[in-house]
Amino acid sequence: MSIIIQNVTKLYGAQKALNNVSFEVKTGEIVGFLGPNGAGKSTMMKIITGFIPATTGLVRVNGINVGTNDPEVKRKIGYLPENNPLYSEMYIREYLGFVASIYKLGKSKRKAIDDIISVTGLTSEQNKKIGDLSKGFRQRVGLAQALIHNPDVLILDEATTGLDPNQIIEIRNLIKEAGKEKTIMLSTHIMQEVEAICDRVIIIDKGIIVANEEKKNIYSKFKRTLQIVHVEFDRNPSESDLTKIANVNSVRHLKDNLWLFESDSEDDIRPLIFAFAVQNKLTVLALQKEENNLEEVFRHLTS
Ligand code: ADP
Ligand code: MG
Repeated sequence: MSIIIQNVTKLYGAQKALNNVSFEVKTGEIVGFLGPNGAGKSTMMKIITGFIPATTGLVRVNGINVGTNDPEVKRKIGYLPENNPLYSEMYIREYLGFVASIYKLGKSKRKAIDDIISVTGLTSEQNKKIGDLSKGFRQRVGLAQALIHNPDVLILDEATTGLDPNQIIEIRNLIKEAGKEKTIMLSTHIMQEVEAICDRVIIIDKGIIVANEEKKNIYSKFKRTLQIVHVEFDRNPSESDLTKIANVNSVRHLKDNLWLFESDSEDDIRPLIFAFAVQNKLTVLALQKEENNLEEVFRHLTS
């Protein structure tokens, strides 16, 4: 069940939210859709799910043009919109029953509700009103409504935004589990989320796709800085002295006595930083080289 996006442009009045966007999500892939606020992520997802039309261009899900409003394609897609809009006055089972009838689940409705409540870990809460749930459980209800008709494609718009660290891990595990048999596209602005879940990374900035790579290739392809080193001294030297260290391209004061060094050099800059410290009677409390920094790639491509 693939998603193919061809030359999609979206105008809101005079504003171009998407500018000739093309990409493909292959069957079974979990794709991370990254971009700063306002980049066009939610707009793209609303177009893929058929909620709003593209101004020009074409989206096909499993070969079907989503712009035709074919109910067949709606049944293949599960969608968790940004901010997870839910009816707070409804009870969980009542709400899921309502969603199940939209998908015309008919006789299998009861079983679909029971199954999805169990899969999304809502059993303990199943008789509660949505408005009485914690944010983590509300997000599970959002996932439950997206999954109840067992869609092949899942579109998740910032599914973990606003959750606490434990809830984030729980929701990520649910997504990973669903990803074993579904094609998933998830938007996020959390790099670690992509690191943790995704096979492929697509980065969008100001309506334009600036990267589309398998996760394992993105570092080598886009890494501009070869080395990032975090250093903690016992006191702060002057920034201008630090920039004089050989092979160092830039230095940033992070906080307290913590500094970040960037270098394009192939040679390890750590011994040079250490030698500088000795020379200047500084003690190095910590010295750490950063590996595989997706955040750096993101900053480079979207700044
Ligand atoms: P993201 O989800 O990446 O934060 P959006 O897709 O929500 O980005 O928004 C992309 C751009 O389109 C933003 O500049 C936003 O202000 C604008 N936009 C989104 N929805 C509308 C709308 N309904 N009317 C006008 N402008 C909109
Ligand atoms: Mg958004």
